Amino acid sequence: MNKVAQFDHQFVWHPFTQMHEWLKREPVVIVAGKGAVLHDIRGREYLDANSSIWTNLHGHNHPKINAAIRQQLKKVAHSSALGLANEPASLLAAKLVQMANQKVGRAVPNAPFSHTHVRRGEDTAPYLGKVFFSDNGSTALEVALKLAYEFTRRTRSAGGSPASRAKVQPRFLSLEGAYHGDTVGAVSLGHIDLFHKSYSGLLFKTDQVMSPYCYRCPFNRAKPERADAREYRKCNWECVRLVEKKFTMQKRKGNSYAAFIFEPLIQGAAGMIPQPPGWLRQVTEIARSHGTLLIADEVMTGFGRTGVPPVSIFSEKSKVRDRQDACPTLFASHYESVQPDFLCLAKGLTGGYLPMAVTLTTQKVFDAFLGEYVEFKTFFHGHSYTANQLGAAAALASLDILQGKQSIRARQNLEKNLHDELQTLWSLPNVGDIRQAGLIAGVELVRDWRTREPFDLRERAGIRVCKAMARRGVLTRPVGNVIVLMPPYCTTPAQARKMVRAVFDSVREVFDRRSL
Ligand code: PMP
Repeated sequence: MNKVAQFDHQFVWHPFTQMHEWLKREPVVIVAGKGAVLHDIRGREYLDANSSIWTNLHGHNHPKINAAIRQQLKKVAHSSALGLANEPASLLAAKLVQMANQKVGRAVPNAPFSHTHVRRGEDTAPYLGKVFFSDNGSTALEVALKLAYEFTRRTRSAGGSPASRAKVQPRFLSLEGAYHGDTVGAVSLGHIDLFHKSYSGLLFKTDQVMSPYCYRCPFNRAKPERADAREYRKCNWECVRLVEKKFTMQKRKGNSYAAFIFEPLIQGAAGMIPQPPGWLRQVTEIARSHGTLLIADEVMTGFGRTGVPPVSIFSEKSKVRDRQDACPTLFASHYESVQPDFLCLAKGLTGGYLPMAVTLTTQKVFDAFLGEYVEFKTFFHGHSYTANQLGAAAALASLDILQGKQSIRARQNLEKNLHDELQTLWSLPNVGDIRQAGLIAGVELVRDWRTREPFDLRERAGIRVCKAMARRGVLTRPVGNVIVLMPPYCTTPAQARKMVRAVFDSVREVFDRRSL
């Protein structure tokens, strides 16, 4: 075993990893990367088929992001945001505000993005004008949670005295199978027993409501077909009724939910569960009608992951003025004309280079924390590396690339290539569902597609297939029995083909050699 691998085995404790298993094998030691390819210490090449756990956008070693970091390094690497401002973070905040509000604020009646405010009887959808920096997806959610909690206590308590505030007990609603990170607050919002149960004693109680997992939905009367389950589902939107019921019941208790937390369009760690079109819009309208704040966790879905929306969803094509406006929205919530009160972003923010996160929110929330110093209404939260200059410089460069025509075209092409290649997998009897949301694909493995019978997690079906894929030079991690493909946007057609081919061959290898 090489020296690096030895050190790793001796000293490193890996995340989400059974170290007993890990220590049995020599790890793949990554030493370099270029585009969608990672190189290991033994000179082997791998395709990074999950974009280094969903973070990388434009490929590794991107010249523009490298240059931006180098430029910033010539000035300063880091100074604290506690008491000081800095150039790249201020510019980044301004840019994020612009991006997070484009389209939404200009909505007109009967046009996409209009109904959010029309239904709310307001002039505009929430304007996300304030940016709170933190370090990762978990902290982005933690910040939203704390802000929503305290905002609710302050706005729902009569007079706002500490005593009346203490009586307000904000409650939160999230989705079945939700995953919003690993810090204690974020874990409290989660509902994956495998990850979260052990810590139940540490957590505060939150409610969960059915998520629209069409493939395994008890209300879906359709027999299995060789297509994405959303396309052939037979139901009456019972999942939406359940959301409505949940909100109504909570209201009867005299304490409407403070916030509804969701991943828009597709839930990631829950098992790559995409929502049928219209679900998000309907449930968020229900939440709004109960005075509930919306917290969109776009840690995975943000920055174009869910693809380039068709031009038709943009209302004012004729008013496109500059390149900024010409770039289609980069946030999944906007696909369904939903503008949240909190937008949580991380992973792809820096193009997959450096740990940085943001929570965007409204002036209204911001104002609830304003006061004289001695009132102690300050938002007492912050991290040492908050608004780090290197991260902000990388993010600015990444956003610039993302908004360029070349990247938009690359994303459109990759989405189509991925879709076309994925069709080959329907011939495998152990493939039950293939679900794609833009540049995110989940392939659910089952014992037999006709029965949808799942593998027991102990059989490690997903892990075995991913190991076989690694032997074929394609790296990804499963979510349970779901194989995830989420390639960097620079992935070429040949590389996309290789990724899907690796799934095909590996599924055949692991579950004998049958195909339909
Ligand atoms: N939210 C979502 C939707 C995520 O997918 C993740 C991470 N997979 C997180 C939050 C937590 O992000 P981080 O790992 O950066 O803390």
